[in-house]
Amino acid sequence: MNSTFAPPAAATYPELYALASQNPKLSFLEKAWWHTMLTGIMTLSQLVRPPMYFLCHLLTSIGIITFLAHEILYFARCIPWIIADALPTLFHRFKIQDKKAPPSAKEQWSCVKYILAIHFIVEMPMIVLFHPMMELFGLKYALPFPDLKTLAIQITIFFFVEDTYHYWLHRAFHWGPLYRAIHRVHHQYAAPFGLTAEYASPWETMLLGLGTIGPPLVLGSFTGEVHLMTVLAWVALRQFQAIDAHSGYDFPWSLRRIFPLWGGSDWHDDHHRYFRGNYSSSFKHWDILMGTVAGPRGKKMRQE
Ligand SMILES: [Zn+2]
Ligand SMILES: [Zn+2]
Repeated sequence: MNSTFAPPAAATYPELYALASQNPKLSFLEKAWWHTMLTGIMTLSQLVRPPMYFLCHLLTSIGIITFLAHEILYFARCIPWIIADALPTLFHRFKIQDKKAPPSAKEQWSCVKYILAIHFIVEMPMIVLFHPMMELFGLKYALPFPDLKTLAIQITIFFFVEDTYHYWLHRAFHWGPLYRAIHRVHHQYAAPFGLTAEYASPWETMLLGLGTIGPPLVLGSFTGEVHLMTVLAWVALRQFQAIDAHSGYDFPWSLRRIFPLWGGSDWHDDHHRYFRGNYSSSFKHWDILMGTVAGPRGKKMRQE
């Protein structure tokens, strides 16, 4: 099977579904993907002409499914941290800012309400708009799925590009006027917890969000080799990274101990605690290179 396993324009939905079902090489996940594409993008696109085609994409099931997946992943990844805060006898010894009281139920609930508002008002249009954008930028969504090596290489590139973009934009957000206008909301919590990962103003959500959705679009437009599946995996991993960085917990098995360039919660917690420094999202190299490591650790580094 080659990468042009895309539905012929004239085929009807039952014909296309039969075609996918008959292909023994397709995995369960690939069939499910095919089914979503057929019920969403393809069936609607057969009904309308080009100008309406884009409008149609805004309403297709794939955009809505992606948004729902985003919601489920976000809150599901926060659950372990909510449990950890509720069981201090077991987990308090792993808490980074162990002198501060864990967030109250009231605080967590007000955070959930704010985040849901941001997700529905700002992130949902961005996610739904991403699908017509991905077509414009030449991203693939036909079968087969990309192989694991391509997936891993591209996601690594996205992590490093996003981290660079995040470092410089976040550092700019700490400049007085931008801080007051855009970034202050995110610093409401000096001792962050999982749910606060996306606790930010609408402008911050949009501008920092470009660092996540921009790299796949740019790489896709230059190479034509970026698959929507890779983008979905990348967005999920980036979401997990942001939630974990705000968790407030550092475990002996945290990724930063295996991979020293990785910042993790240990790094980002210091950003909230000391307010200046540690501006990057995933890695440490920009802060080390630019001399912006936060807190006593940064002071010690600069003295050396
Ligand atoms: Zn900040
Ligand atoms: Zn933060």
